[in-house]
Amino acid sequence: MLTVRIGIDDTDSNEGMCTTYIGAVICDKLKDQGFNLTPYPKLVRLNPNWPLKTRGNCAISIEVTYNPSTFRELKEIVLKTVEQLAELKHASTNPGVVFYLGKSIPSELQKFSRKVIQGIVRIEDAERLAKKIGAEYHKFKLGRGIIGALAAIGESFELDSTYELLAYRKKSYRGTKRNIDINSVIEMDRKTYPRTFDNIDPNTGENRITPHTPCPILFGIRSQDPESTLEALSIIKSNEPIERLIIYKTNQATDAHLISTKIKDLKPLNSAIISGKVSETPRIIIGGHIIFSLSDSTGEINCAAYEPTREFRKIIVNLKIGDRVKVYGAVKKKKNIPLTLNLEKIEVQNLAEIYMKKNPICMNCSKRAKSKGKGQGYRCEKCGKVFPPGSEKYVRKSRDLRIGSYEVPPRARRHLAKPLIRISPSK
Ligand SMILES: [Zn+2]
Repeated sequence: MLTVRIGIDDTDSNEGMCTTYIGAVICDKLKDQGFNLTPYPKLVRLNPNWPLKTRGNCAISIEVTYNPSTFRELKEIVLKTVEQLAELKHASTNPGVVFYLGKSIPSELQKFSRKVIQGIVRIEDAERLAKKIGAEYHKFKLGRGIIGALAAIGESFELDSTYELLAYRKKSYRGTKRNIDINSVIEMDRKTYPRTFDNIDPNTGENRITPHTPCPILFGIRSQDPESTLEALSIIKSNEPIERLIIYKTNQATDAHLISTKIKDLKPLNSAIISGKVSETPRIIIGGHIIFSLSDSTGEINCAAYEPTREFRKIIVNLKIGDRVKVYGAVKKKKNIPLTLNLEKIEVQNLAEIYMKKNPICMNCSKRAKSKGKGQGYRCEKCGKVFPPGSEKYVRKSRDLRIGSYEVPPRARRHLAKPLIRISPSK
C-alpha cells in the first residue's frame, strides 16, 4: 500500500460553495470506493490578509492509503469532484489540486506552508517547489489554488492544533435561513465549553456555530479534541436535515498567522506580535474606532480597535502613555499614515503611574487654593493667603484598567486568532 497526500484550494466564491465541503464530498466518495483515509483530514487557514483571498481563505488536505493499481481511480474521483463542485464560473475562483506521493512531508514544504499562512507567496514559487519535490499539480483556470493546496499538505501542526466538526446542508436548503434550536446550542455550550469554544458570543448571546453566508455549511463546532465535537453534536437539535458531516484537524484558533517582531521589521499584509509602550493616548475617531500609538526601540505604529470589536474598545480607551503592552494583530498599510496594526488581542503587562496635581489646602478655610498662573504659586480665594510655587502635591490616580489579557469578541475574531480561553482555560 502507498500513501498520497491530496491538497485542494480556491474552489469557492463569496456566493457559495466552500472548499471544506468539496473535501467532505471527496472523503465520502473515496471511503465508498474502499479507500483508506488517515484521520483527520486537515483544514488549513491561510494568511487572512491576502488580498485575493476568498471568504475564509482555507485550504484542505486529505491523506489516503491506496493500492497502486487504484491510483487512477482515486485521482479521477478527486479531480472530477472539484470540477463539478467548484465555482468555476467566478473569475476569482481558480482551483488548484496537488497530489504528493512522498513518504513524509519535506521540511521545504513545511517552510512553504508557514510562509503561505503568515505572508505572501507567488504561484511561480508554488510551481517551482511542486516540481522540485515531485508533487503533481492540477490547475483549473489560473490555478492559484495550488499555493494553498501545497500549504495544506505541508502544514503539520507542530506547535498547536484544534478540531472542527462541520455539518452540511442538503442542496434544497442552501440559501435559506438555517434552522437550529438556539436552546440546544446554549445547552451544548454549557456542557462542553471550554473543550468546545466560540459557540455563543458572551456579550450578545448570538449563536456563533451557524454562518450567515449562502455556503453549504449548516453549523461548525470548534473544539480542543475530536471527541468533544461529537458530544456537542449529540446535543444540538437541527430542524433541517444534515447532508453529511466531517471532522477536520485545523490551525484555527492557534495564532499560526502571527510573527513576533520589532516595529521596524513589520510588513503590510503580515500579522504580528509586538511588545512596546503606549506612546500616544488613545483617541476616538469617526465611526467609533479607537487608535493609539505604540513604540518600541525601533519605531512607532498605530494600533486600532475598530467599531466591530465593541466592548474590547472599552479596554483600549483606558490605555495611558507609558503602559507596557504586547499587541497581536494584522498589519495594514493605508495612504499617508503610519502602518496600522488591527488589534486582535492585547496583553497589558504594566500600567504607568499616573499622578494628579492637587493645589495646597488653606487650613483657615478648609478650601483648596487657586493657582495664580504657571509657576507663580497659589492663593486662597476666601482669605487671600498665599502659597509659594511648589506647595502643590501630586496624588497617584487609580487606573480604570487592570493588568491582564483582553481579546476582541468572537464575532470580530479571525479564524486563526487564538482565543484567550485556549491560552489559560482556568480563567
Ligand atoms: Zn483661606
